[in-house]
Amino acid sequence: MEIVDNDKIKSIMYDVSKKNILPFFRNLKSNQINYKNNKDIVTSIDIEVENYLNKTLSQLIKKSNFIGEELYFKNPSILDNYNKSEYCWTVDPIDGTSNFVNGKKKFAIMIALTFKKNIIQSWIYKPLTEDLMYATNKKGTYINGHKVFKIKNKKIVNSTGSISFKYWNKKDQNTIYILKNNFKKINSYGSIGCEYFDIVLGKRDFTILSKLSPWDHIPGVLLVRESGGADCHFDKKRYKFNKKCKNLIVSNSKTLNLEIIKKIEEINHDYK
Ligand SMILES: [Mg+2]
Repeated sequence: MEIVDNDKIKSIMYDVSKKNILPFFRNLKSNQINYKNNKDIVTSIDIEVENYLNKTLSQLIKKSNFIGEELYFKNPSILDNYNKSEYCWTVDPIDGTSNFVNGKKKFAIMIALTFKKNIIQSWIYKPLTEDLMYATNKKGTYINGHKVFKIKNKKIVNSTGSISFKYWNKKDQNTIYILKNNFKKINSYGSIGCEYFDIVLGKRDFTILSKLSPWDHIPGVLLVRESGGADCHFDKKRYKFNKKCKNLIVSNSKTLNLEIIKKIEEINHDYK
C-alpha cells in the first residue's frame, strides 16, 4: 500500500491557502459568492481550491480517483468512485465556507486518502494559524509534527459537543431532542473540521451527526480514531464512508460513545 509523504501534502495545502484562500479572507467580492440549491453558500475560492487539489493530489498516486464537495454538487454519481478505484482522494476545499465568507476564523481545508473501504491517511489544515493535523492508519495522529496523546475520558454530564438537529427521521428527531439535555453544553463551530481538530485536542468531546457527506467526516474520523477516540453508527459499528447511513457519533473515547448510545436506547425504550 502506498503512503503519501505528509510534507508533500503540507506544502500543497500551504501553497493553495497562501495563493487562493488567505488573500480573500475578509476581502471577498459579492460576485465571488454564490448559493448551491439556493441554500448552501459556495464561493469561487471553494471551486478554485478544489480544482487545484484535484490536479495536484491525483498526480501523487497513479490511477487514484478524486471526490470533492463541489464536484459532487455538479455530479452526485462521483460517489461511485469509491467502488471504482483502490485509491481515492476525498476533499473539502473549504470546510466552514459560511464562516470564511463572514470573516470568522473557523474554517479549514480537509483531505483524506482511502484505499478500498479503509481510510488510510487524512489531513486537516487551518490556513489562518497554519496548524496541520494529520493521521495515518494505525500510526497515530500528529499536530504540527508532534504526536497527540489520548486525552482523559469524560462522563456524558461533563461533556461538550455538537448535535445535528436536522435531517433525522421522525423517530430519531424526537430521540435527539431528549438526548441533548444529558450533556454539559451543546454548541457548534460551523466547521466540522475545526470541531474534529478540537475533539482530538480534548478542547471538546463529541459530535452527533445525521447527514453524512463523506468529505465532511472521512478526514476527521481518522484523526479522532488514531488519537484514541471512537466513531460508530447507532448500531455500534464503525463509520463506513462508502455506505449510506444517517447517523454517526464521534467522540474522544469509546466509553463516551457507548454512554451516548446507552442513553439513546433508554430514550427509545421509554417512548416506545
Ligand atoms: Mg466545503
